[in-house]
Amino acid sequence: MRLLLSKRAILFRIVCLFSAAALIGSIWNHATEAMLLAASVLLLWHYKHLFMMDRWLWRDRKLTPPNGWWSWQQIFDGVYYQQRKSRRKQKELQDRIRRFRDGAEALPEAIVVLSDEWSIVWCNKLAQLLIGLRWPQDEGQRIDNLVRHPAFQKYLNNQDFKEALVLTAHHLEELVLEFRFVPYGESQYLLIVRDITQLKQLEQIRKDFVANVSHELRTPLTVVQGYLEMLEPGQLPDEAMWQKIHPVMLDQTLRMQALVQQLLALSRIEASGPVQHDRTVNVPGLLQYLQQEAQSLNRDKGHTIEFIIDEQLVVKGSEDELRSAFSNLITNAIKYTPPGGEIKVSWQRQHHKAVFSVNDNGEGIAPKHVKRLTERFYRVDQARSRATGGSGLGLAIVKHVLSRHNSRLLIFSEPGAGSSFSFSLAAEPVTSQD
Ligand code: ADP
Repeated sequence: MRLLLSKRAILFRIVCLFSAAALIGSIWNHATEAMLLAASVLLLWHYKHLFMMDRWLWRDRKLTPPNGWWSWQQIFDGVYYQQRKSRRKQKELQDRIRRFRDGAEALPEAIVVLSDEWSIVWCNKLAQLLIGLRWPQDEGQRIDNLVRHPAFQKYLNNQDFKEALVLTAHHLEELVLEFRFVPYGESQYLLIVRDITQLKQLEQIRKDFVANVSHELRTPLTVVQGYLEMLEPGQLPDEAMWQKIHPVMLDQTLRMQALVQQLLALSRIEASGPVQHDRTVNVPGLLQYLQQEAQSLNRDKGHTIEFIIDEQLVVKGSEDELRSAFSNLITNAIKYTPPGGEIKVSWQRQHHKAVFSVNDNGEGIAPKHVKRLTERFYRVDQARSRATGGSGLGLAIVKHVLSRHNSRLLIFSEPGAGSSFSFSLAAEPVTSQD
């Protein structure tokens, strides 16, 4: 329990001290001198404690107070108590600030705390990465001195923060950033910056996709429509005309059908949930079936097609999706190899991996095209690919299927020498058949 200094107790002590001094001094008839001496001793005693306090507060780094006497001990204890209380409060405050900063660091957005003068109070690591701020060097700097984009300056001057500002940053790779100012407290602002590059890319992909599909369908539809318009209603075309337009119309309709089928296959894969990796796929059986299909496709091409299949090699995954990947690669090799070519399809074990590859000695593909082959609707030669009934979606489907099976497509190609398309999957261990 803390005792307050009482005026009465102090007065009592002073009276006692000086009475005792006067009494003792009066024995030698020097009462006044004795009282003066007592006053001096009292003054020195107080100075001694003042000095102790000064040393404790400013020079010693210790928290525990020095040992004092009477009222001074009480003052030391009081200061000690207040110091402890303020240290505890400071620690609590620091903990709170740390928790707030940890929370702000964990956010997936860049956060900058700004004062009413737009100067930086604090920023998280993502802000340093996304808008190139440096912490703590940029503390106190105005944000518009560091983000120098004219649109940002205008946005800040207008102070209309209902809509977010979208900017393309060039200091990293092409980054699309969304800036949002949120007012809080007394004219303070939180600047929240979000990386929306992926969102914008997806939006662009969606727009391109719709444009591509419309374009792909428009061409055959225009051809068929043109022929149909040439024919008068109720009037049948003559034999020569029919011979000419029938194969073209049939060809264009087949193209549309192939495109719609590929689109359906792609959307089916995209819409289906995660691949069930507990289902065993009998790949050798699947490839046998695809071998027959390849022979019939090859009828007017005259390629030599060789299948080298490990009959024991099975994997886990989705049968439909893997069939689509195998089939697209085999069909492409047949389609894009000039007549009389050599194609080798292989399904072999390599350590713990099951490796599928299709090699052909066709025309090959130039390096600048190779990296773009798996993009939707990408074709090396638009006209040739269309002539072979290609939609440009085959390899996009393969890529998608493989990413769902934790694999990826490897393409090696040399113009004039041929191409190799391969991928590997986790092989199932061989089960001994007794
Ligand atoms: P498509 O439906 O047009 O065949 P793909 O996505 O399957 O679309 O293939 C994309 C492009 O890659 C094709 O247009 C073709 O130019 C090229 N390509 C694919 N496979 C081969 C191959 N084995 N040899 C040469 N070029 C190929």
